[in-house]
Amino acid sequence: TTQTEKTFFGQPLGLQTLFFTEMWERMSYYGMRMLLVLFMTATLQEGGLALTVASATAIYGLYTGCVYFMGLPGGWISDRLLGGQRAVWYGGIIIMIGHIILAIPNDKTFFIGMIFVVLGTGLLKPNISALVGQLYSDKDVRRDSGYAIYYMGINIGSVIGNGVCGYLMEYQGWHWAFGAAAVGMAIGLIQYRRTIGNLNSIGAKPESPLTPKGEKISWMVIGGILSLIALIAFMALSGNLEINPVSVAENVAISFTAIFVLYYVAIFWLGNLTPNEKRRLGALLLVCIASACFWSGFEQAGSSLNLFTRDYTDRLVGSFEIPTGWFQSLNSIFIVALSPFFAAIWINFGKRFVSPAYGIKCAVGLIIMASGFIVMFFAAQYAASGLKVAPYWLVATYFLHTVGELCLSPVALSAISKLSPRRFAGQMMGIFVLTYSIGNIISGLLAGNFDPNAIEQLPSMYLQISLFSIGIGIMILLFSFKTRIWESLQDDKTDKHI
Ligand code: GLN
Repeated sequence: TTQTEKTFFGQPLGLQTLFFTEMWERMSYYGMRMLLVLFMTATLQEGGLALTVASATAIYGLYTGCVYFMGLPGGWISDRLLGGQRAVWYGGIIIMIGHIILAIPNDKTFFIGMIFVVLGTGLLKPNISALVGQLYSDKDVRRDSGYAIYYMGINIGSVIGNGVCGYLMEYQGWHWAFGAAAVGMAIGLIQYRRTIGNLNSIGAKPESPLTPKGEKISWMVIGGILSLIALIAFMALSGNLEINPVSVAENVAISFTAIFVLYYVAIFWLGNLTPNEKRRLGALLLVCIASACFWSGFEQAGSSLNLFTRDYTDRLVGSFEIPTGWFQSLNSIFIVALSPFFAAIWINFGKRFVSPAYGIKCAVGLIIMASGFIVMFFAAQYAASGLKVAPYWLVATYFLHTVGELCLSPVALSAISKLSPRRFAGQMMGIFVLTYSIGNIISGLLAGNFDPNAIEQLPSMYLQISLFSIGIGIMILLFSFKTRIWESLQDDKTDKHI
């Protein structure tokens, strides 16, 4: 095909639509996420919920875990009922309603707002990521760099969200900040609506629609499940359920992992796959394992590294003390700065040599992330000896974590979109997003070992995380020399293009 039309940084124009929609969605997500623990732990006089740190961080872990878990049903709904375009649209609307509810100053409705954000993100997040991949044919070398650009949009959104919501929280109050997240999502929706033509027919229809009868039954089941969620939420809010957040988080982590395995096995054996589709799914398993391990370490950023910043880092520059929260933006700022390099690297690499296998890139990303924890191992030793460490230890750690993230995360998205059978596109992305979920919960549990009264144990905790991740990384690296052949296997008959 001759492409003489307009492009978006050399990419299909549809990427522009998806880039800005996801940018605004992530602005609302990360803006709200930065407020969450602070709001829940703030006293009643400060307008907060006055929860303990332990319950607040557990709720936070469960919230972020559930957000990504819902990608699984969200992907299914897109594949079989709505198609990607409508899934993103309705998901965005539900997210926006959630943020509007959060903006209402009332602590009961607060959790209802969170449920809306969870449900809406499940519908939007995996499907918008899958749509990006559908912009490219299987031969198109721009796919990896397209995902790198898309990933930059995610992080520009995160920078805006942290900045705007952080500012409003300080100077206007919590609910203005939550409201800003709703406005961000609304801008994203308007933009999506106005430029949806760029997507043409991509994701306009479900890839493997149900029969009209099956459709009806599915909507009834979905309605039933939603009513059940509403009922449980109502009971939890009106009664006083005695729950131990840490054990809930542990059980949820185990359940999510089990669901991941079952779903993967089900698609593999019951999905009516061709032999080559099965081999490609085998290659993707490595990508998923790398991803879950990666986020288990990486997501310490918001928890244990955040506490390390607050308690053991010398943040004084002259007479100015760098706010703890600023360190949270380092990751997204590094991403935005480094993404163009990575996009260029993948595209040139792909043109000149063969593209390195997805498994190899992901393993390298995992190992680089792990090396960031070696830096923390030394920093924690200083801290354990009673010194405050210089900020550049954390800067170095976040830098390594970001380089690792760029080797793994956009690459993994690209791999899933390329190697999954098309009719499972949304669901496979949902399964992949489940690895975020597992990683987020495990990282929360690991961070639970951060004990300010036993700081001497901190170095060994970071060393263990590091060595474990490096071990898994090396194993994935070895396996990927085998699976790199599977990755390149095409379908026996005609591989359907867009
Ligand atoms: N920053 C990435 C995103 O928002 C990944 C988040 C995660 O926790 N895995 O898409």
